[in-house]
Amino acid sequence: MSVIAQNLQAVQSRIALAARAVSREPHEVSLLAVSKTFGADDVAAAVAAGQAAFGENYLQEALDKMALLRELLPEAALAWHFIGPIQSNKTRPIAEHFDWVHSVDREKIAQRLSDQRPADLPPLNVCIQVNVSNEASKSGAQNDEAAAIARAVAAMPRLRLRGLMAIPEPTDDVAQQRAAFRQVRQLFESLRAEGLSLDTLSMGMSGDLEAAVAEGATIVRVGTAIFGRRDYSRQ
Ligand SMILES: *Cc1c(COP(=O)(O)O)cnc(C)c1O
Repeated sequence: MSVIAQNLQAVQSRIALAARAVSREPHEVSLLAVSKTFGADDVAAAVAAGQAAFGENYLQEALDKMALLRELLPEAALAWHFIGPIQSNKTRPIAEHFDWVHSVDREKIAQRLSDQRPADLPPLNVCIQVNVSNEASKSGAQNDEAAAIARAVAAMPRLRLRGLMAIPEPTDDVAQQRAAFRQVRQLFESLRAEGLSLDTLSMGMSGDLEAAVAEGATIVRVGTAIFGRRDYSRQ
């Protein structure tokens, strides 16, 4: 078994344990393998181990990797999720090549993605990125903005509003991890209570996925624990 296959199995076990600990079913949580900085060969190894959903942060790197994978594995039905910061001049290729975008934090970006989503593709699945850690990260909308963007996205014809995404400040303190994820879940629940149909909480990474699952994550985005440490000089 490849190292990547072993790592995937270990991450799936962590998810299952964390889910059962709070009486959730493991299948309620899906694993997004974050393959940024890793090559098409590593993605292919993950696909061979049964993984089909991949997260990417850098547009050109992702497009190159998708093209290589279409050659390496023409039969594989892969789902690509864009999870990085979005510049407005990059929305068209994102709308054309991805299945999901987790990092929408401005209405203007959402409008461009909707306008540019090709008619022959299904609506683009969208999560609104929420800023939970205040000053530490610049990305993500504040709660009230996130609510306004979510309402706007729900009305855009070529987007399908799915939920919220967050990247809390890293900490080893599990209580702090859970408090940050709980804030996101509370916003998620309040949006559902006002009638928006949301089914996705994208939260939890290699270091904090247990806390995220405990607080209701439905997608965890995991890179390092699957592919190993990122070496940015490889890019
Ligand atoms: C890189 C990245 C991840 C994966 O982080 P790991 O700590 O390597 O698991 C998850 N989400 C986002 C948005 C990322 O940029």
